[in-house]
Amino acid sequence: MYKCECGAMFKEPYKYYEDTGELWRVCPTCRETSFDKVIKCKLCGQWFEQFCDNKICDDCAEEAYTTRLGLKFIDRHKEDFLTTVYEIENYNPESELVKIRLLDALENDYFDNFNEDSYLSKEKENQIKEFCLEDLDTWIAFLEREVDYV
Ligand SMILES: [Zn+2]
Ligand SMILES: [Zn+2]
Repeated sequence: MYKCECGAMFKEPYKYYEDTGELWRVCPTCRETSFDKVIKCKLCGQWFEQFCDNKICDDCAEEAYTTRLGLKFIDRHKEDFLTTVYEIENYNPESELVKIRLLDALENDYFDNFNEDSYLSKEKENQIKEFCLEDLDTWIAFLEREVDYV
């Protein structure tokens, strides 16, 4: 589907040829070209402009956030997350072993005494959430794999 700035929704743009032979694709209602391809969000049913392969709109993607999912996400992106929160510049471990040890140490430090029965500080919860939602496309791709949307 396509959605035009004038509010019209249509399946296919209206096509016509200029006298010069040039093909034009325009909105069937206003005959302008300010329209975008849109798809229906699997969760809320809203039509939104799709940039990647995702089928969930940005609003739903942010709303779907939970700390549990956030922790799972940063586990997948551990290296990126830890070097970001510890503001490590020139991150370039000399070997795989050094890298693993460094990441382990940082992870232990970050999650010091954190387990199923305890809580993360608000500050850390926010930090994790911010990291997850910073790149919404990656977050949505993760959600689509992790969460069983029907
Ligand atoms: Zn229009
Ligand atoms: Zn939605």
